[in-house]
Amino acid sequence: EMSVEKHVFEADVAKLLHLMVHSVYSDKNVFLRELISNAADACEKLRYEAIVAPELLGSNPAPRITLTLDEEKTRLIVEDNGIGMSRDELVESLGTIARSGTRAFMERIEAAQGKEGAQLIGQFGVGFYSAFMVADNVDVVSRRAGSDKAWHWTSDGKGSYTVSSIEPAEAPARGTRITLHLKDDAKTYTSRWTVERIVKDQSGHVPVPISIVEKPGAEPAQVADGTALWTKQKSEISKDDYTDFYRGVSGHYDEPALTVHFRAEGRHEYTALAFVPGSKPFDLFDPDRKGRMKLYVKRVFITDEAELLPRYLRFARGLVDTADLPLNVSREMIQESPLLANIRKGLTNRLLTGIEKLAESDADAFTKLWENFGSVIKEGIYEDFERRSQLLALSRFRTTAEDKPRALSDYLKDMKEGQTAIYYLTGDSLAQLQASPQLEGFRARGIEVLLLTDPVDSFWVTTAPDFEGKPFKSITQGAADLAGIAKDESAAAAANPSMTEFVAFAKTTLGDVVSDVRTSDRLTESAVCLVAPEHGPDLQLQKMLQGAGR
Ligand code: ADP
Ligand code: MG
Repeated sequence: EMSVEKHVFEADVAKLLHLMVHSVYSDKNVFLRELISNAADACEKLRYEAIVAPELLGSNPAPRITLTLDEEKTRLIVEDNGIGMSRDELVESLGTIARSGTRAFMERIEAAQGKEGAQLIGQFGVGFYSAFMVADNVDVVSRRAGSDKAWHWTSDGKGSYTVSSIEPAEAPARGTRITLHLKDDAKTYTSRWTVERIVKDQSGHVPVPISIVEKPGAEPAQVADGTALWTKQKSEISKDDYTDFYRGVSGHYDEPALTVHFRAEGRHEYTALAFVPGSKPFDLFDPDRKGRMKLYVKRVFITDEAELLPRYLRFARGLVDTADLPLNVSREMIQESPLLANIRKGLTNRLLTGIEKLAESDADAFTKLWENFGSVIKEGIYEDFERRSQLLALSRFRTTAEDKPRALSDYLKDMKEGQTAIYYLTGDSLAQLQASPQLEGFRARGIEVLLLTDPVDSFWVTTAPDFEGKPFKSITQGAADLAGIAKDESAAAAANPSMTEFVAFAKTTLGDVVSDVRTSDRLTESAVCLVAPEHGPDLQLQKMLQGAGR
């Protein structure tokens, strides 16, 4: 008798499992998408390892995913002949959550109430553990490619799991077999009709063929052919095809905000299929978050760590497939290849043009995209010097002029006669900024002021010298030179001689607390306000730097 090791789940897994089972997550079908996507990943990893170790494929080279329906025993079995898992990999992968940002995500889920929590789980991409939404017991039997050892992982999803070694004869020759012992209310997943429909809907475009075995021992029937969607002509691909594919590649369950699919020809040839998600990924600001574009060489998945896009487009999901790299290219070589630089440039251009076109053709869709990702795109204003003016032109800002975001071109059009700068005010919230006394003089003259509330704003405004020749100027900084611009109700009060006396008094009283006291055009109702020196960080940036301990 072989030994059985008992393990408890990592705390985050236990929490996630609890939420998964107890929240009324409406769309349980997604568990099948998750298991199929893992199976397809496993086949792609094997294909990649077999480039240098072809013997791993043995006599069974063609990747496949098989779903076996067992109505009699109320089981659904998902099997792949991919890379498989060793004992340590089983413990590592199916007992912990490796994904960055998980902790923060779990906290958000806990803070959220029932229904919203369920939506968050959906956005997180529920992963392997979603099997417990439909099964009260899950068995995983796995044999890593090239290994003569096989392992059995089993759990009821209630806090612990066991791992034991099993006879190789009881395991697939290679890969992973996952048996779901279905709950009473999940019997429908033994129905051929149900399962086939779900597979076609959700997973019709995974790049590995999928078959269904109607009952144990029956002949497999292929239900998806594993053709890579991106290799098809655009005219052959429907919007739904793209959406399904996007869901598979991104783990989001919504519609993409933007789809960019093109073939680059010329010196470097490659195909790219990229999406801007319809909602914000939970880990967008996680410092460890990397881009998630996948690189394929001749349809073989190579890596999702090649930097195919600049950081400020890290929300995009999708892939690039090229025939211009050798299959056995090392991940280090990729990073240095001129092809990569070329792809980065081409893909960045296409994505930005796509977003610009969306701004022209569908203002609402663009506004939503900007709400989700604007604060990330603005990082490009200081990170991507070459595209600075393009990114500034694309950006939208809340201002004092209207109750909706405005483009800088709108701002320039509405500038007052005599106005030479683009004025801005930075702060933590729109409400706080709108109440600022600093705005009074500008309001009185009808001068629009950008109200910047994203942390990133304090940085780009200091590095972007101008937009179309007009410098950016903080209204908290130095003398706001408003004297040359007429007030709207030209009720400018005459210069007051007692002012000079008051300023002298204020200076002596305040001493070193301030560096200067001046009369100002910027106020109309408030008596005084604080301003930052002309040169140097503005007030909000000073606050942030102090907060960061600098
Ligand atoms: P993700 O796919 O986002 O990594 P999952 O929860 O879906 O998260 O899966 C966790 C990990 O378990 C995978 O990264 C992989 O290492 C492993 N895994 C799951 N299913 C399989 C499988 N069928 N074959 C090999 N490894 C698997
Ligand atoms: Mg997965």
